[in-house]
Amino acid sequence: MKAKLPQKFLLMMTANLFLNWQNVHANDKVRVVTSLPDLKSIAEFVGGDKVEAFAIATGFQNPHFVDPKPSYILKLTKANMFVTVGLDLETGWVPPLLNSARNASINKGGPGYVDASLHVPLLQVPASVNRAEGDIHIFGNPHYWLDPANGKIIAQNICDCLVRIDPANRAYFQENLQKFNARVDAKLKDWVAAMLPFKGTKVIAYHNEWPYFEQRFGLVIADFLEPKPGIPPTPSQLAKVINTMKRDHIKVIINSPYFAAQSAELVASNTGGKVVTLATSVGAEESIKTYFDLFDHNVAMMVEALK
Ligand SMILES: [Zn+2]
Repeated sequence: MKAKLPQKFLLMMTANLFLNWQNVHANDKVRVVTSLPDLKSIAEFVGGDKVEAFAIATGFQNPHFVDPKPSYILKLTKANMFVTVGLDLETGWVPPLLNSARNASINKGGPGYVDASLHVPLLQVPASVNRAEGDIHIFGNPHYWLDPANGKIIAQNICDCLVRIDPANRAYFQENLQKFNARVDAKLKDWVAAMLPFKGTKVIAYHNEWPYFEQRFGLVIADFLEPKPGIPPTPSQLAKVINTMKRDHIKVIINSPYFAAQSAELVASNTGGKVVTLATSVGAEESIKTYFDLFDHNVAMMVEALK
């Protein structure tokens, strides 16, 4: 009997240590780095106060072209989780940053790596992968976060990773995911209703980044100022667009915050059309603080431009 006492004591000590370790671990926030602020916003909805999120790109930068700064490498070195849009959206800047960070757990195949495009029904997937003539959408159109319904798929991918990294908070993450999804469903009804009177309206866009928005909200994007994604507007392309706008009575040109307005203004002045600059990401305007603000803003802008 006497000999069993120290054993019990040891067991208690071990259990205590384990509990302490678990508590410390539970109090640590999951450090999430995302390529875009939209992914950060969704990660914050799902992760709540259990995550600390940082987005590399700002909301008014062209997501195809971001300068890889050393400070981003430091963030990635310390991250538990990295979320990327994927396809070839960030081809020029995410791989070099991940290589420099040397953090295996957030690299492709690691437990903390999230390709947010997983299970997204992609649009414009070409029959063959071809980077000819500078095309930067070679695996399909990568601007899928601009359909709020895809936001739910992104949130699921993020939730799966959070559960993998921090299983103790599984129920919390899953509850947040359900709340996020319910809010998307409720808001989506309002946004679709607001856009319904303009169903089938043809518009022009600078860059081919609106097919998911177009599909969700019933617009028809007739042509682009860029002759190919990533190739700046040419005089012949602008002339072609002007002809199309005159022929089809198109009145709206969608610009993005990171494209100079000259080309769009030139086309507008030749056609009596107007330029509307939509937000492509959270943070494009100071008022756009969350993923929901993004669509509140863009739907309001489009309704105003089209009415
Ligand atoms: Zn693009």
